[in-house]
Amino acid sequence: MKKLIGYAAILLALLFLSGCAPSRTEIPPNTSSRRDFYEIFVGSFCDSDGDGLGDLQGLISKLDYLNNPRGRDTLGVSGIWLMPINPSPTYHKYDVTDYYAVDPGYGTMEDFERLIAEARERGIDVIIDLVINHTSSKHPWFLAALEELRSGSEPRYQLYYNFTDERVGADYYPAPGGKFYEAHFWNEMPDLNMDNEALRGEILNIARFWLEKGVAGFRLDAARHVYNSQARNLEFWTWFVDACRDIKEDIFLVGEVWSGESEILPFYETGLAVFNFPFAGHDGTINRSLNSGNGGRLASELERWDREIRLRNPDGINCLFLSNHDTGRSAGFIPDPNRRKLAAAVYLLVPGSPFIYYGEEIGMTGSGIDENKRTAMLWSASDPTGIPRNPAGAEQVRAPAQGVAEQLADRNSLLNYYRAVLALKARHPSLYDGEVVKIDLENQGLCAFRAGDAIVVHNLTGESAAVALGDLGGVALGGSVSPTGASVSVKNGVLTLPPYASAILT
Ligand code: CA
Repeated sequence: MKKLIGYAAILLALLFLSGCAPSRTEIPPNTSSRRDFYEIFVGSFCDSDGDGLGDLQGLISKLDYLNNPRGRDTLGVSGIWLMPINPSPTYHKYDVTDYYAVDPGYGTMEDFERLIAEARERGIDVIIDLVINHTSSKHPWFLAALEELRSGSEPRYQLYYNFTDERVGADYYPAPGGKFYEAHFWNEMPDLNMDNEALRGEILNIARFWLEKGVAGFRLDAARHVYNSQARNLEFWTWFVDACRDIKEDIFLVGEVWSGESEILPFYETGLAVFNFPFAGHDGTINRSLNSGNGGRLASELERWDREIRLRNPDGINCLFLSNHDTGRSAGFIPDPNRRKLAAAVYLLVPGSPFIYYGEEIGMTGSGIDENKRTAMLWSASDPTGIPRNPAGAEQVRAPAQGVAEQLADRNSLLNYYRAVLALKARHPSLYDGEVVKIDLENQGLCAFRAGDAIVVHNLTGESAAVALGDLGGVALGGSVSPTGASVSVKNGVLTLPPYASAILT
């Protein structure tokens, strides 16, 4: 008996020591249905009233473009992520002054409610940016905290932030009473103190407010910065996910953990989905694979990432993307139009919830300062109706010769390729949640994997490739896309994939 108790004590000690990765016996599913998301910077998307700033009414007028199951000329996404819509003194709005309102430049709460209703009619779920690592320095909480320090009154709101007596790091700035406050990103974005229970209560009230408005969930800004420790971040997000699920069981929560794989993957243990930064951007796995033409390695990496996520959460969702509002746009680092189309097929046909950055589907470019990455959506190259002004300071001219209108009319356009890929995916449900298993092929230029009952094959090379159906384990062609116009075919049990083409087998 004594021995048993001794073993139990050792086991408990080991569990305690490994406590930096909270172990959970049961992680509820992140969401009942996965989606193809589209990230929108409202201010640059569509302007309904001609004041030069994109707004919610403008976005509503473009919902048919995003998904109209009964209409033509529709992209076919099933979710949208709105970058911050709360009132804010900046153009980017990542510094919130009121978590319960819509920025007046974007519209009203009634506009937002109408957006939710109109989106729902089109099968589009809306998630919004929830920026809770920090507030604006103009937020009433922070102003009240400063006032408390000035007047020496009972601390309440100063407990919401990280005030110190000494300047304990480069991220600290002077405050009244000889104090300093933490502001990691910018001195006008003071970091919140999530150790404060009252603040945690406020955060849940904010989440509940928007969930009751009908949002499907949140994109969680700066998720790795809430605490300066991985273990405490994981504890915090586990708490947040559990609390949000008590409000809405099938909530969709995706965290921004802009970091490497060793920091990203443990976040899946919290129940969050997490953006896949290692596959994104000009030096990410997808673009490096396109450049090297090494499809075998890409398939290995897709399989390995899928396995690593499932190990931490069987319902974890891989959130692939090529670029976002903080990175250079993908058309800039993928100059070849055929590879641009292949890139679309690659990230959209992996099980999970991929994110298309607005304008990516028409090959918009922009890099360098953030404003360049957030320029106005080009609805038409000839008709300025609805096109907002670029953010002040943007210094790059938009590059695509064709806007949405022209690309819809051009059957060889990038936009029509995105549409074809999403339509193809919609016919194969296992491409949303199937387990990724690499198929080993002799030709390393091919990326092939099984996802449930579907098989995906991409040709990453500029040469046509032939592969026996038997080697792929497939029976019939379930659809294909080909950037060069040369068709994918199956003859005498051999699949022929033209350069940069993709096929689905069943
Ligand atoms: Ca406007």
